[in-house]
Amino acid sequence: MRCRKCGQKAVINMRQHRLALCDEHYLEWLPEQTERFIKKYEMFTRYERLLLAVSGGKDSLALWDVLWRLGYNVDGLYINLGIDGSLDYSNQSQRFAQQFADERNLKLINLNVHEQYGESIPEIAQRTRRGQDKTCSICGLVKRHIFNQSARDGNYDAVITAHNLDDEAAVLLSNSLDWSLERLGRGQPLLPAGGGFVRKAKPFCRFYERESAAYTLLRGIPYIHEECPYSTGSKQLFFKQDLNRWEEHMPGTKLRFYLNYLTALDEGAFPQRQESPAELDQQRCPICGQPTITGNTCAFCRLFEK
Ligand code: SF4
Ligand code: ZN
Ligand code: ZN
Repeated sequence: MRCRKCGQKAVINMRQHRLALCDEHYLEWLPEQTERFIKKYEMFTRYERLLLAVSGGKDSLALWDVLWRLGYNVDGLYINLGIDGSLDYSNQSQRFAQQFADERNLKLINLNVHEQYGESIPEIAQRTRRGQDKTCSICGLVKRHIFNQSARDGNYDAVITAHNLDDEAAVLLSNSLDWSLERLGRGQPLLPAGGGFVRKAKPFCRFYERESAAYTLLRGIPYIHEECPYSTGSKQLFFKQDLNRWEEHMPGTKLRFYLNYLTALDEGAFPQRQESPAELDQQRCPICGQPTITGNTCAFCRLFEK
């Protein structure tokens, strides 16, 4: 297989684009495409301050590297969830995130859930006696809360996450099977700011996981290879494996699924949130002050009610 641009040996073949590239051209192509998506979805500009959710894994470090190379103003936020097990998972991934930031002289904000709130994610899950998927839903809730709070406290213009196409397609499949119209109305690559929620953007949402992994490897970026122990057997992993099987037989399935969904979303196929930002602004949690749909204590604060 030869690179379409220079004829050298290709390192990656993207069947859905019928495009094979050598390492040099791939390392140009991925940032160019990222820039294209940032502009297409009007995510953010070089004049804005961005806060990137950094996990120490391949996707978030690849995205940080790309945005840094493109000249965006991005700080990282690492949340230590207190997930240890035999791998010492959280501390190890924090070391990779810190090493990346130090090597490029970038700012990484570190926040430890146990130190900040008195309990780690596994401890909260154990106290509330919830199963594995519930551990992930608690974890997601805590991370969303902390990112929004940190972005507001630090006056950032947008929160960036490194969700890739495999993540987005798996969530879309799950929400479609549930016919969760409320969630299906919130799958855009860009969620505008409003009612106390900071703008959220996903510049990698159109890249396959293997594409961001290839970028990280070719750039020689060290990252945590192990997956979080709670991801094994999760619903999301199950959907990802199924989508991979379909992709194998029908290249481009995931991309078509996601892009056609975005078109349907644009055409108003799913209800969007109705409250105006001013209305939502009145609905603040009395404990933490963050926005909440009900106006009562938010789901995050309820987690810590004993
Ligand atoms: Fe959190 Fe679950 Fe992801 Fe682990 S797999 S980091 S517990 S959401
Ligand atoms: Zn080439
Ligand atoms: Zn609250």
